[in-house]
Amino acid sequence: MNIDEHLKTEQVIKGLAISPGISTGRAYVLVKSEENNFARKLNYEEISDEIDRFYHALDNAKKKVVEMKENLNENLDMETLQIFDAQSALLTDPLFIGEIVDNIKLKRVNAEYSIKVTANNWKIKLSKIRNLYISERANDIYEAAHLIIDGLAELGSGEDFCLLDPVIIVAEFLTLTDLARLDKEKVLGFVISRSGYTSHAAIVARSLNIPAVSMVTDAHNRIKSSDLLILDGLRGYCIFTPSDKIRKIYEEEYELFQHRLKLLDKLNECKPISKDGVKIGIQANIEIVEELPLVKKYNAEGIGLFRTEFLVDTSAAFPTEKKQFNYYRKVLSANENLPVTVRTFDVGGDKMINEIELRKEDNPFLGWRAIRFQLANESLLRIQLKAALKANCSGNLSILIPMITNIDEIKRIKDILKDLEKELIDAGVELQKYRFGIMIEIPSAVLLADKMAKYVDFFSVGTNDLIQYTLAVDRGNEKVSYLYSGLEPSVLKILKLLADNVENKDVEVSVCGEMASNPIEFIVLLILGMRIFSMVPWKIPVIKKLISSMELKNIADHLPLILELESSLDVREYIVNSFKDELSSIKDFVF
Ligand code: PEP
Ligand code: MG
Repeated sequence: MNIDEHLKTEQVIKGLAISPGISTGRAYVLVKSEENNFARKLNYEEISDEIDRFYHALDNAKKKVVEMKENLNENLDMETLQIFDAQSALLTDPLFIGEIVDNIKLKRVNAEYSIKVTANNWKIKLSKIRNLYISERANDIYEAAHLIIDGLAELGSGEDFCLLDPVIIVAEFLTLTDLARLDKEKVLGFVISRSGYTSHAAIVARSLNIPAVSMVTDAHNRIKSSDLLILDGLRGYCIFTPSDKIRKIYEEEYELFQHRLKLLDKLNECKPISKDGVKIGIQANIEIVEELPLVKKYNAEGIGLFRTEFLVDTSAAFPTEKKQFNYYRKVLSANENLPVTVRTFDVGGDKMINEIELRKEDNPFLGWRAIRFQLANESLLRIQLKAALKANCSGNLSILIPMITNIDEIKRIKDILKDLEKELIDAGVELQKYRFGIMIEIPSAVLLADKMAKYVDFFSVGTNDLIQYTLAVDRGNEKVSYLYSGLEPSVLKILKLLADNVENKDVEVSVCGEMASNPIEFIVLLILGMRIFSMVPWKIPVIKKLISSMELKNIADHLPLILELESSLDVREYIVNSFKDELSSIKDFVF
């Protein structure tokens, strides 16, 4: 009997397998507030402890206000000192405190969430009052709320989601900031209600070898914290309160998968050189610093894509220059002799939404995102570019701009860079060389690539978005995912057009979208003439093994033939049949 047969008698939700692996563990359900902050759903028995925790933090916050006032007393004017009184008043206001406690009880959520929801409500109410003094006091609410929240953080647990035991995280969706704040050592897996295969949650989960299943409808409402789950990230199953029999079966599945992972490490010894001696460039995509060791482990020749979005906290302001500098310096100096491609914030769309700066849009993927958002908020772009330029102490920085639509945008960014260089030199900073490149992920950029080439050092092809925009298929929407494929004849045509447009141009072209790490699509990219790729680190050994089993001398001969095909299935079949031996050399590793 295969696993599907055994599962007929179990409670199973079928989702989308977004990161391979098997795990068994207790669920930890995370819910998010309107502000995109996590909250933890409490079990009934946890409620009274959480209320005690809140009162404890509240007492500490009150003491802190008194201390602050005493310390500053001599230096501040009366008006400023009254602000402390306003905060003390809020921290003792029975209505404010009562509402927080009610929220903990009735919504069964942790204190941090309850405080934020209550503070939001109060702020909205106060700002509507047509009295300047009162409406300005609305901001004091946040100050007071943060004092208690800081107190809670000192008490531990809650907002910082310090996980005590290894758990399977269950959430509606996860942003990069959320992922960065989780203790990955304690995460056995992710069950997510919504997030496509190319969402950042999926990409990070795959990169860190954490099994994940998405599109588990309403997972965060149907699963309770502490429920025992089996997560099958190979087939996309989430099994609740499993029987002993299925647990035993999955113990064996787990062992088998671990064995395959060990074999995968062996593949790492392969060189990315084809049988006939063609060297292929293989770099790594990373999203968080925890992935840096993987870059070394899999011998990547640099970082082809460093996504920086997780630095943009969803609840606070944009990261300061100092915070960014420290972060970029860490990644650049960990790879001193290798190129590191820092991509500017690709916020908006399915990415981080800072509620302060971005509003909901009818068509977020076509809207105010990435470089469009940053050019409209030029100071934020300047801060990011300046932090990257300053962090570039070994001259291994490449700056990459996402979502470029036209040449005007490139010119504006280059002007800003020129300006910043001057400013930094005037300030005595010793600037090192760096490269400047753009993402090719919008069809208009493909159409203009011949002209854009003269303004940049490199193009990085973002196939995830290029497919989305070529086919008009939302990359995260499961209902239309049957249309989303890098093998669609129209996608091949647009990639061919790009190859034609850059022929004989002095510009490096690499591919950093997920197509680069999918063996069949990777072969198509080789046929199209691509020779530099960047991918999630753990896929590198598989792709290196595939390269070492291929002859590339005549590979372009396949091009006219695949361009004649009429469907993605035909293209797949053609590649599978034409590269049988090569693909069979990696068949055990394609999870
Ligand atoms: C892409 O679009 O292919 C890409 C690499 O960028 P992201 O997945 O971050 O949008
Ligand atoms: Mg993209």
